[in-house]
Amino acid sequence: MAVSHISRRVMLLIVFGVALPAMLLAGLGIFLTLRIAFAVEDENVRYNSYMAQQLAEAFEQELMAHLRTQIAPAENAAREGEGTAAIRAALQDAVGEFRSADTVPRDDLSHYSLLVVESQPVFYAAGPDSLTFAGMMLRDGEGRIIGAGGWWFSPEWFLVSHLQTVVRNRLPANPRLYGGFESTRRLSFALLSPDGAELAQVRASGNPRTAREEEIGGPFEGFRVRVAATSNAPVVWTSRFVALEITFIGIMGLAIIAATVLGMRVVVRQLELAQIKAGFVSNVTHELKTPIALIRLAYETMELGRADSPEDRDRFLRTIGRETLRLSQLVDNILDFARLEAGQRVLRFESVDVAKLMRDTVDSFRPRLVAEGFALEFEEPSDLPLVRADATALSHCLLNLLDNALKYSRQRKEIRVWAETRGDAVAVAVRDHGMGIPHEHQKRIFEKFVRVETGLVHDVKGAGLGLSLVDQIMRAHGGRVELTSAPDEGSTFTLIVPVATGTRSERPEPLERTGS
Ligand code: ADP
Repeated sequence: MAVSHISRRVMLLIVFGVALPAMLLAGLGIFLTLRIAFAVEDENVRYNSYMAQQLAEAFEQELMAHLRTQIAPAENAAREGEGTAAIRAALQDAVGEFRSADTVPRDDLSHYSLLVVESQPVFYAAGPDSLTFAGMMLRDGEGRIIGAGGWWFSPEWFLVSHLQTVVRNRLPANPRLYGGFESTRRLSFALLSPDGAELAQVRASGNPRTAREEEIGGPFEGFRVRVAATSNAPVVWTSRFVALEITFIGIMGLAIIAATVLGMRVVVRQLELAQIKAGFVSNVTHELKTPIALIRLAYETMELGRADSPEDRDRFLRTIGRETLRLSQLVDNILDFARLEAGQRVLRFESVDVAKLMRDTVDSFRPRLVAEGFALEFEEPSDLPLVRADATALSHCLLNLLDNALKYSRQRKEIRVWAETRGDAVAVAVRDHGMGIPHEHQKRIFEKFVRVETGLVHDVKGAGLGLSLVDQIMRAHGGRVELTSAPDEGSTFTLIVPVATGTRSERPEPLERTGS
C-alpha cells in the first residue's frame, strides 16, 4: 500500500516536476524561435516589396536619363526654330540606343500618354510590332511647346539590357534605400515578361517564399520585376538556424520523453521489486515458521509422553521427517539463490546418468507424495545418453518441479515424471493435472520472487524462488526449461539438458509406478 503510494508520488514528481516543465520549456523555445523566424521573414518580405517598387521606378528613371542625354541636340534644334526635318535629323543621330526617331506635332499630343519622371513629362505610346514610343517635349525659343521628339524602341530589349546597370548603379545610389549597396548584394532581381516568363536575372533567389513582384508602369506596362533574398541573405541564415534549432529542441524533447519513460520504468520496476521483496520476506517467514512449528509440536508431544502408541510415534516421526525435508529444501533454495545472486554458485559439471539421478530424486521425494495422497507415475528412462551436468543442481531442479506439481495440484493428485532424448539433449519432464498457469503469466513465473496472484495460489505458500533457480541453473547448463500449461488442465515443465559429448548411459530400468 505504502509502496504504491510512494510510486504514485514518484511518478507524479517525474511527470509534473521534470517532464512537463521540460516539455513546456521546449515548446516555448520552439514558439519563440518560430516567432523570431517569422518576424525576420516578414521584415524581409516588406523590404523586398519596397525594393521591387524601387526597381520598377528605377527603370523609368533609367529611360529618362537616356532620353535626357540623347535628346539635347533635338531640343536645341527646336529652340532655334529649325523645322521638323532638322529636329528628326538630330534625333536620328542618337538612334543607336533606340530604333527610329520620330516627332509628334503639338496638335497630336493629346493622343499620347504622359508620365512625369523626376518632374519631367515623358510621352509614350504603344506602337507597331510591340514597340513603344518614348519622347520628351520640345520647346521653341520662347519656351512654347511645339511638340514632342523621341524614339520607337523595344521595352523588353531596354529592360533586359539595363537590368544590371539599374541594379548595380541606380538602386545603390538611391539614398532612400537603407543598407544601400550592401543590402542589394543580398537580393536577387528578376525581370518578368507580360506572360510571366523570366527574361533576365541578377543573382539567384535563395528563398522563394520571400519573393515579391511589382508591375513596371508607364512605357514598360505589362512587365514586372521580382525581388527575393539570395542564399546568403540573413533571412536565409535565420531560417536555416531556426530549422536547426527546432531539430535540436525536438531531439532534446524526444530525449526527455525517452528519459522520462525509461526513468519511470526503472522506478516502477524498483518499486515492484521492493513490493515483491516485502512479499518474499513474509512468505519465507511463513514458510520457515510452519514446518518449525509442526516439528516442535511433534517433538513436544513425544517428549511429554503423549504419543503412547507406536502408530502415533510413527506418525509424529513422519511429520518431523517430512517437515525437515520441506525446511531443508526451502533453506537450500534460499542459499542457492543467494549464491547465484552473488555469483558464488560454482557448478561442477560431470557426465551424469539422468535415469539414476531421476530415480534417486523421485525416491527422496516419494514420502511427501505418499503422505499427501498423490499417485506418481515414474517411467524410468532406458538408453538415455549421459548428460553434462552438476548432479546436485540438476536434482535440485527436479525436486523444485516435483514440489510445485504437488503444491499446485488440486483434486486430481496425479503426477507423471519421464525423460526422453531430444536431439543433442535429454528432456526431463514433470506433469501435473493441477490448476495450470494462464498464458500471460507463463514467462514471468521464471523471474525471481514472482508468484501468480490469482485464485487459489494465495492459499499455497512459497517464496517465488524455485522456478527462477531452475531457469538460471538450466541456462548455466546450456539448456533451458520449457513449459506447456493451461488453466485448470495442468502443467508440464521440461528440463532440457545437453548431452555429454560422446557418451551414452547404460542399464535400462523397468517402468515404475507409485501411488497412494
Ligand atoms: P513458489 O512455488 O515458491 O511460489 P516458484 O518459483 O517455484 O515459486 O513458482 C512461481 C509461481 O509459478 C508459483 O507461485 C505458481 O504461481 C506458479 N507455478 C509454478 N509451478 C506451477 C505448477 N506446477 N502449476 C501451477 N502453477 C505453478
